[in-house]
Amino acid sequence: MLSDRLRELKNSLPSGVNLLAVSKGQPAFLIRSLAEKGQLDFGESRLQEALLKMDELKDIDMLRWHFIGRLQSNKVRSVVRYFEFIHSVDSLSLAERISRISAEEERSPKVLLQVKLREDNNKVGFSSNVLCKEWSTLKQLANLQIVGLMTISPLGISQEDKQALFIDCRDLADELGLKECSMGMSNDWQLALRAGSTWLRLGSALFGPRLDPRQLFDRDITKST
Ligand SMILES: *Cc1c(COP(=O)(O)O)cnc(C)c1O
Repeated sequence: MLSDRLRELKNSLPSGVNLLAVSKGQPAFLIRSLAEKGQLDFGESRLQEALLKMDELKDIDMLRWHFIGRLQSNKVRSVVRYFEFIHSVDSLSLAERISRISAEEERSPKVLLQVKLREDNNKVGFSSNVLCKEWSTLKQLANLQIVGLMTISPLGISQEDKQALFIDCRDLADELGLKECSMGMSNDWQLALRAGSTWLRLGSALFGPRLDPRQLFDRDITKST
């Protein structure tokens, strides 16, 4: 059962390591049942889907929402309004936009910079060179709190290479004085944990298989996004 899986996962995490329950593709009632067991951090990657669920769950005011998906510039304002964490800030220009809009909205989201430490055509993110070059500018952005780095391992690399990648991400965060490392998903979270992840982003290992967004609601929300 879902609550047993939550308990097992939580019991295997040392203190200081957080579980981000990735609830994309999951209905609001499952989020509610985890919230009742004390899980308060939820990750979503599609804005429209997330907003509908937030509305269904607005009676639970302790929930903390994390945006983990590709963030298009026209969605920044809504994400800043409704999410406390953004794990997927992948360029200086996006960070600047988030900071400017956060000032207008009187918000100050916690941000993780998405890094790409290995060649991966399917993924975005700062290379370590670009990040180091832009770091002093990023640090000065007034309305966002940069708390860590986020990474996603490329498909099809070996366990050893994944382990090395996660260690590189942890080392880079340490060099920059950042506490948080958002790394590890259902199929590789043990490796990420060993490397010093502080946010494990777990979807299917916790909830089971995802639904297509149009199965979640009684209308097709994909048309309006
Ligand atoms: C969907 C998603 C996850 C969770 O994936 P699982 O393999 O189901 O654990 C984690 N991180 C990001 C960025 C995602 O988009």
